[in-house]
Amino acid sequence: MPDSARIEQLRPSKNQVDPSVPYHFLHEQEPDAGGKIREVNTIFLTNSECPFRCLMCDLWKNTLDEPTPKGATPQQIAYALDRLPEASVVKLYNSGNFFDTKAVPVEDYQQIANLLQSYERVIVENHPKLCGPNCVKFSEMISGQLEIAIGLETIHPEVLPKLNKQFSKLDFVNAAGFLKDNGIDIRTFLLLNPPYLTDREEGIEWALKSAKFAYQHGSGCSTIIPTRPGNGIMEKLQQQGDYVPPAIDALEEAFQQAMTSVGGRIFADLWDLQQFSNCSNCFEARKRRMKQMNMKQQLLPAVSCKYCG
Ligand code: SF4
Ligand SMILES: [Zn+2]
Repeated sequence: MPDSARIEQLRPSKNQVDPSVPYHFLHEQEPDAGGKIREVNTIFLTNSECPFRCLMCDLWKNTLDEPTPKGATPQQIAYALDRLPEASVVKLYNSGNFFDTKAVPVEDYQQIANLLQSYERVIVENHPKLCGPNCVKFSEMISGQLEIAIGLETIHPEVLPKLNKQFSKLDFVNAAGFLKDNGIDIRTFLLLNPPYLTDREEGIEWALKSAKFAYQHGSGCSTIIPTRPGNGIMEKLQQQGDYVPPAIDALEEAFQQAMTSVGGRIFADLWDLQQFSNCSNCFEARKRRMKQMNMKQQLLPAVSCKYCG
């Protein structure tokens, strides 16, 4: 099982990033818990690299080697908001953990909160072990509802420890309870076919079990992410047969089963989806269907294809 040192050793190089600007930002739409479509501004912040070394992570590619300079995060948010349309929800994704004080200095919280005053909901990412008083502090500063996205990935008892996430199911439960007690909402990221779950049916089964577990512990929505290669170690695991990219139809299956059996909102992550399809005849139709299912939160007729079935 690869450790942090081995994971780092196989990394390709980072991208050049500038702490005065976010590395990306975009406008999107998403249904809220009541099914109403919300306008969302998503900002990908250029922050200090995450201290964890999760096996499948490639988010370090757009991070700084040093702590984020004080004032840089509010500057980046202001830069993006100046260029984005109006929205009621904002996602601040920082390629790590928002409440890692090296990534977002505590001194910047108030300025960030001031910039986000018009937003009804603020969504940030965070590791269960970093869910503590700073989450509550920031939650009290913003005028909208704070929601924390947690990468639970899987609850498979043998696979979760191998992902080098440095947390257990119990840590997730404790973090979720703490956030709930403090009026903070939760969403969850789950992996389809993480390393060491290579069988199609098993991959789907554990994505569903994990989504149910997250929902039972208060997660308002789950996003199923097809596990992607691209960070060095994942390619190695693929060569060894320890990682198999999920096929697009497995994502469809997990998505539709989760939508009918889990509870809460379920999203399929469609970024760079083409790599999971072998059929150019139906790819766009499958992607379009899942995009609509994300938006409507209801099952739509399956795509049939004369080439791939
Ligand atoms: S906690 Fe998140 S950002 Fe950090 S290494 Fe793990 S997956 Fe990547
Ligand atoms: Zn096809």
